[in-house]
Amino acid sequence: MEKTYRSIVKWGDKHEEILEEGVKALVKEKFGYTDDDFQPNYLRGDEEVILPDSKLPEAVVDSLIKICGKENVDISAYGRALHSYGYFYTDLLNLRKGNIATPPAAVVSPRTEEEIEEIVHLCNRKKIAITPVGGRSSVTRGVETPHGGISLDLSKHFNKVLEVNETNLTVTVQPGISGPELEKHLNSFGQGYTCGHFPQSFEYSCVGGWVAARGAGQESTYYGKIDNLVLSLKIIAPAGVIETKTFPASAEGWDLMRTFIGSEGALGVITRVVLKIKPNREEQAAYASFIMKDFESATKCMRQIMQSETGYPALFRISDPDETATAFKIKGFDNSKEDKILKVLGYKPGKRCLMFISLKGDADRNQLMKKKIKKIAKKNGGFSTGKKPVVEWLGQRYSSSYLRDPLMDIGIMTDTVETAVMWDQLVPLWKAVRRYLFQRDKIHVMTHISHVYENGANLYFTFLSPMKKGKEMEDYLQLHKGLIDSIHQNGGSLSHHHGIGRALAPWMEEEIGKTGMGMMQAVKDFLDPKGIMNPGNTLGLH
Ligand SMILES: Cc1cc2nc3c(=O)[nH]c(=O)nc-3n(C[C@H](O)[C@H](O)[C@H](O)COP(=O)(O)OP(=O)(O)OC[C@H]3O[C@@H](n4cnc5c(N)ncnc54)[C@H](O)[C@@H]3O)c2cc1C
Repeated sequence: MEKTYRSIVKWGDKHEEILEEGVKALVKEKFGYTDDDFQPNYLRGDEEVILPDSKLPEAVVDSLIKICGKENVDISAYGRALHSYGYFYTDLLNLRKGNIATPPAAVVSPRTEEEIEEIVHLCNRKKIAITPVGGRSSVTRGVETPHGGISLDLSKHFNKVLEVNETNLTVTVQPGISGPELEKHLNSFGQGYTCGHFPQSFEYSCVGGWVAARGAGQESTYYGKIDNLVLSLKIIAPAGVIETKTFPASAEGWDLMRTFIGSEGALGVITRVVLKIKPNREEQAAYASFIMKDFESATKCMRQIMQSETGYPALFRISDPDETATAFKIKGFDNSKEDKILKVLGYKPGKRCLMFISLKGDADRNQLMKKKIKKIAKKNGGFSTGKKPVVEWLGQRYSSSYLRDPLMDIGIMTDTVETAVMWDQLVPLWKAVRRYLFQRDKIHVMTHISHVYENGANLYFTFLSPMKKGKEMEDYLQLHKGLIDSIHQNGGSLSHHHGIGRALAPWMEEEIGKTGMGMMQAVKDFLDPKGIMNPGNTLGLH
């Protein structure tokens, strides 16, 4: 796999995944596949990466080498190819087809803030594009380099914990630190802490990317979205440096820091982040799961729990009937003794929904919350299924996404789209999006809710459908456009946690209005007058 397009495509730890029998059975049932169709040979991208030489002028390469050392300026074909795309579906298709139209001209890995400042000044003078990157796990075409330039990789060196403050409960980090590195440091510091931010991409994404793409971890209902975890930031922009001070709260006019949460590399380079932390009380966690009779009663129960002022669960998920049925099928639960009992009790396949809960924080409070949650679930017709399903789910919380590659290898399009919506529009939106998707022949759609608020929640749609061979790209883009239109027209946000990037940029002006867009552009023009920061329509900006 070394130096092939496939080595770039592969998500996860790069080992080849084998499709479980349960998944194969699902693909056969939904799409009419036969045993012969499971040869993993479709658009694999096994070819070695070939790219034209970097067009960066020699003098610029020399200047970059002078700033951060020869070993930190990579103009090799493979290094540049590796930084050409993130993990949006079209990125993967392009890589599998060996299409890298606009790779960066160099990948530069700075070691210090001073080096970053010098690089930004150099690129500003020479009008060279800079795309800051961390884990490159963007699923919105956020790290592509349509104007070439340099991919500024902060994950190689700029990845240190600078301070843990046990009195204030904060950690100060450089943005290139990855999820596992951050948690390892916090878990072993003093009495043991956690940041509580666990996106599904946790293993391969970095703090700077979390902040810049405004992400959410799987336990955000308790710990908060990254928006709520950041206390202050330092940004190096072409126009200068902004460092916000760290306060628990303030009323110093409008909140400058928030301008940069979700700025997606288009305003400047985030070089320092102060995050809230909490004591790590993992051993005091409590768990609960329920089968609910249908999606309506499940979402009502979820809303009542969030509005009960009992406290918020950490993991809080509902799988819709199709996602529940899929999980039951893949795990071999269908027609088991327990399944038969559930059916007799009125928890019917095609209607029933799984609800998973974990409770973090103080043990006494968790027990009290669990009692109250059980009461609310029971009132809404829920059947308690205990701790085991949640613990099992947590065991594969990151690896379930590794399945995408082997599914694409057998010609199956698989993607996810997510949104946030107020409670009173949630079920209608879920129905409308499903109606849209089911217009397609041979499609499997699963939905869950995984980030929950007093006033509403997110919806996360996963869809699988056989690719239209030879027309994979056009087919996907058409389906995706209709899907986003459908979400947009039915009261959903463009994104709850993946950000906008270039993939959702075409909808931005309609979403925030001409004046809103004009204000964003004015901020961009002030901080980045030559338009060198992640240029090419990021966030819909010029
Ligand atoms: C399988 C999978 C599962 C995912 N699950 C989740 C999930 O559960 N929750 C979630 O929120 N997201 C999820 N994502 C999306 C992605 O992981 C997040 O957007 C993540 O926050 C990106 O972090 P990163 O370090 O990979 O950033 P990158 O992809 O490198 O960059 C993302 C954006 O941030 C900008 N950026 C990065 N670092 C900086 C910096 N220092 N200064 C300025 N701009 C910067 C980039 O220019 C780009 O616009 C998932 C992605 C995949 C592939």
